[in-house]
Amino acid sequence: MPAEVLIAGAGPLGLALGLALRQNGVACTLADARAAGAAADDRRVLALSHGSRQILERLGVWPRLAATPITTIHVSQEGGLGRTLLRARDYGLPALGYVADAGSRAAALEAQAAAQSLAIRRECKVVRATAGTDHISACLSHGTGEETVRAALLAWAEGAVGEAADNVISRDYGQSAVVARVTVHPAPNGIAYERFTPAGPVALLPHQGSGCCAIIVRPHREARELLLLPETAFLERLQWLLRGRLHFDTLGPRAAFPLALRYRPRPVDKRSVWLGNAAQTLHPVAGQGFNLALRDAWELARLLRDAPDPGDDALLRRHAHNRRFDRCGVIGFTDALVRIFGNHRPVVRHARGAGLLLLDLSPPGRDFLARRMMFGARAWV
Ligand SMILES: Cc1cc2nc3c(=O)[nH]c(=O)nc-3n(C[C@H](O)[C@H](O)[C@H](O)COP(=O)(O)OP(=O)(O)OC[C@H]3O[C@@H](n4cnc5c(N)ncnc54)[C@H](O)[C@@H]3O)c2cc1C
Repeated sequence: MPAEVLIAGAGPLGLALGLALRQNGVACTLADARAAGAAADDRRVLALSHGSRQILERLGVWPRLAATPITTIHVSQEGGLGRTLLRARDYGLPALGYVADAGSRAAALEAQAAAQSLAIRRECKVVRATAGTDHISACLSHGTGEETVRAALLAWAEGAVGEAADNVISRDYGQSAVVARVTVHPAPNGIAYERFTPAGPVALLPHQGSGCCAIIVRPHREARELLLLPETAFLERLQWLLRGRLHFDTLGPRAAFPLALRYRPRPVDKRSVWLGNAAQTLHPVAGQGFNLALRDAWELARLLRDAPDPGDDALLRRHAHNRRFDRCGVIGFTDALVRIFGNHRPVVRHARGAGLLLLDLSPPGRDFLARRMMFGARAWV
């Protein structure tokens, strides 16, 4: 009986899962379709929650990562009253979350995987798999042909849920996120801005000194136009969207990412489990995708510790059950934010404004929101 977990995908999540399994004494091998270092040129900037910092610290990755702390989050909406402020000091924490380059996150995970001698097969794609009673056979395709390997469990960490995947619920938001590096004055000093506008949210994350990362969510056509705008016009548009709070000086590289919600209601099957983006691809409005993914990986690795058979059906069902609350909460919360703040009707706009104002005046409501951003489902306990 093979006692190994095969992880399909050595992206950030696959590597985090590999490290967590190693820490829990579960043997694993990773296979990735791409070459080593391919994720290092990912231009996105990510918001990592305080809970993610705790997991990355335990995996030995955090010291390798340069991250900018978010001490305050300022939430507002265009064309309506009300705003709310979430402050780290209200929770006795150094930061509500952190901002890091997606590329450096990948590099830090790869460096720690190398330090821990994780077995990673590069340029090696898992093309299909067949589950038997006591093992799963996976077909790996690589430069020299195909081969079949057996494992007790196949963990799919292959990134976005594919269009053609079975048993998937999806919603196309008809939007793209335009991500751009900018410099700003005065320096953001740890403040992140999230502003909801009828066409989509706009976020500004503090990133390295006077640097920031702007994320502008817009319908696809408008997003394409934003990518092509000359530097000055782009910075003026950003300033207008954020209503003159800050002054933008320079613009770095821009990129656009199409947005959709796609998730598997049942993230387990015979000797198979789907994690992170492969289980749920989220709208980045609240910056929750990788944070949720890390909790998926961490909890699975803990469950598999000392398990005689990591692919046992009852164990996998327990994993799906244990993760249901956190997954559904984040999927529902993210989707609700997009729908509520994307509604143009005046009555809804005023209700939203009142909601934000109430949130600002109500410490328990604000606490709940902040804890959800920091810890996911652990906000409830
Ligand atoms: C614009 C944008 C902003 C975001 N902002 C945030 C944020 O602020 N905070 C946050 O927490 N999350 C954020 N996210 C989500 C976050 O980026 C993702 O959740 C996370 O990076 C996904 O990591 P992953 O390892 O699951 O997938 P990927 O990074 O896609 O990695 C998948 C890996 O699997 C490999 N692979 C694919 N298929 C196979 C196969 N068949 N066999 C072998 N290997 C395979 C690929 O080569 C790749 O290396 C954002 C997403 C977007 C689009």
